[in-house]
Amino acid sequence: MSDPRSSRFGAATLAIHSQQQQDAFGSPHMPIYDTTTFAYPDTTALLEVTEGRRRAPLYSRYGHNPTLYALEETLAALEGAEKAWAFSSGMAAISTLFLSHGRRGIACLGEIYGGTLGLLEHQLPELGINTHFLLEGDDFDALEHLLASGVGLVYIETPTNPTLRLTDIAAVAEQAHRHGALVAVDSTFATPINQQPLALGADIVVHSATKYLGGHSDLTAGAVMGSAKLLDAMWPWRQNLGCALSPQMASLLSRSVRTLPLRVERHNASAQAIAEALLGHPAIARVLYPGLPSHPGHRLARQQMRGFGGMLTLEFVGGRDAATKVADRLALFAIAPSLGGAESLVTQPCTTSHADISAEERAKRGITDGMLRLSIGLEDAEDLLDDLQQAIATLSESDNTQ
Ligand SMILES: *Cc1c(COP(=O)(O)O)cnc(C)c1O
Repeated sequence: MSDPRSSRFGAATLAIHSQQQQDAFGSPHMPIYDTTTFAYPDTTALLEVTEGRRRAPLYSRYGHNPTLYALEETLAALEGAEKAWAFSSGMAAISTLFLSHGRRGIACLGEIYGGTLGLLEHQLPELGINTHFLLEGDDFDALEHLLASGVGLVYIETPTNPTLRLTDIAAVAEQAHRHGALVAVDSTFATPINQQPLALGADIVVHSATKYLGGHSDLTAGAVMGSAKLLDAMWPWRQNLGCALSPQMASLLSRSVRTLPLRVERHNASAQAIAEALLGHPAIARVLYPGLPSHPGHRLARQQMRGFGGMLTLEFVGGRDAATKVADRLALFAIAPSLGGAESLVTQPCTTSHADISAEERAKRGITDGMLRLSIGLEDAEDLLDDLQQAIATLSESDNTQ
């Protein structure tokens, strides 16, 4: 196939066939080049590469490694991007993005991941980079003000953790571009299968590949996708910060990505079925899932997403204690942070991802102590639902009042 990005192929085909790189022996996938440096027959051949006339592997820390090239071709194809770079973690991808493209100031719209928040709140201001936080993902008036003051990068996450709120990617992109600012989207919760931020007008997409792209809770990685121009500007930063993905992890991630479309389809279907089944349960005050018509972001989700994802949040009538009891009594859901793996996980945001902020601050963000966030895995949906129902059934009458 010529250029899979411009092709008529679907995501499942792209996930398997978009690697252009071939090894010398016809392996159907690029093997691991556990190689730090690459040799050249003479100085003329070396200079062709170091002087930029020919792209060829040279030194793996630079990101020059065939195993990495192959992975990046697939990642770019899945997001419909010209290029992708792979990083040693999601935070490595995000911090390199901010250092490369955020120096004119960064405006964050809506809820963001804790590590990203820490970086923007503490480390980047120490370097003199101005950062701004707009709590509501649709605060377009405040955003207009920041853009008019010259902020160069708008950063959003959609859907957000743990309330699964959505931000209108096309609307933010249109507004930012009027001011010459860039828009970057952390699309980790959505995956490239459920949402394509670049097609909606965003300039850059970032992923914690540790989650759905990896999909098996066995690797830590990150990715950035976008135009050649924007990605090329990030290259020297990744090279000299030294945070390119290792060839071993790149190979493992390539292996995982081949089944991404299949896995995401299953995550979507199971989460939807479980959300629908628990809707209206007397012990549950709210089921937050973008695929439910009752979800505040449902209309927008239908516009900008092709599937609603595997993350779902329950809010218990009985508050914090009821949520804790249910988490402790679940048999198939492990209590653990992270998400996107084959196994189902459960977290209580007030004890993990949002433990560091006050209850008052959490309330402002719509996060209550009675919430449980579920990462719906690849088990049989009926078994997961049975497990949830048995755990909830152990709550007594008194647990179901505040
Ligand atoms: C986990 C996560 C990150 C950070 O990724 P790491 O791979 O842990 O560095 C960033 N954004 C979101 C939305 C995440 O869930």
